Amino acid sequence: MYSPEAISKAFAAAAQERAQALALSIERKAQVEQQCPRIAAISRELSGIGASIAKAFYDKNAAQSIDSLAAESLRLQQERKALLKSMHLPEDYLEVPYSCPLCSDRGRVDGKICSCIKQRAVAISLKELARISPSKNCSFDNFDLSYYKNLQDKNGKSALEKAKVNLEYLKAYSADFNEHSKSLYIFGKTGLGKTHLSLATAAAVIQKGYNVVYGMAGVIFSDIEKEKFQSTPGTYTMQKLLDADLLIVDDLGSEFHTSFSASVAHNIIEGRLLTGKPVIITTNLDITGIQQQYGERIASRIIGEYVPIQFEGEDIRQMKKFMY
Ligand SMILES: [Zn+2]
Repeated sequence: MYSPEAISKAFAAAAQERAQALALSIERKAQVEQQCPRIAAISRELSGIGASIAKAFYDKNAAQSIDSLAAESLRLQQERKALLKSMHLPEDYLEVPYSCPLCSDRGRVDGKICSCIKQRAVAISLKELARISPSKNCSFDNFDLSYYKNLQDKNGKSALEKAKVNLEYLKAYSADFNEHSKSLYIFGKTGLGKTHLSLATAAAVIQKGYNVVYGMAGVIFSDIEKEKFQSTPGTYTMQKLLDADLLIVDDLGSEFHTSFSASVAHNIIEGRLLTGKPVIITTNLDITGIQQQYGERIASRIIGEYVPIQFEGEDIRQMKKFMY
């Protein structure tokens, strides 16, 4: 669950906000107490009461003493609120303005990671996805079906109907995603929205809190090559590709083909099968093409272990040009 990088960035961001909140609160306290000496006196009285309550636990009439101290504390706090109001300031002006009231921006509650860190990690992962996306703001809702021609194929189903079925399948796949979801082999001609739907799937699965690694095949393979032959790792490392809850390899087959890229594809596919974690491959290659480019073994893995999802029709990008 959650990208470890995003989680550590989230902790760093929370710590920074905590420091800012504390600094701001000290500044406000100094400013208010300078303007209103009575508020400074109230603060001193309140800390005195705090110390007295701690001692009162040992009194004979502990309950009674504590009740009267608590009442006094409440009265002082109300007086302070009234004073702040008379200065046209909000009642909680002297409270530390933490972003998260649950953990005071510490990131943990009772030793467990706070929900605010998880929310931050999701936002950080979505931002990272947007940064590396070849196409922006792709969601299931803005997937445009109107470009699919309503043509009948030999099985009597139109390209549009098939695209609708695929869209619904991927929506449900994302909604029900877990670490042992099936791997998908999404194939069809260029420009039918495969990248759009793989990005929409990535975003939806990230929003469920999973660690998703998305990458264009060409970038993944060249980063792995750098990792192996140079000491400057790129965005993708083999460890990240193997650790992710969901790995999406977009546009497989478009990369510059070498025996190295074929062996990387092989390592990724075999490595993920060993851990039982899913991969989504999108490609223009049909199974014969996969076999020719990556060999019999990868082709048979895909046939045996991946759910095939085929897109048919004309190139959406070409059609968009004619529609304007
Ligand atoms: Zn929190």
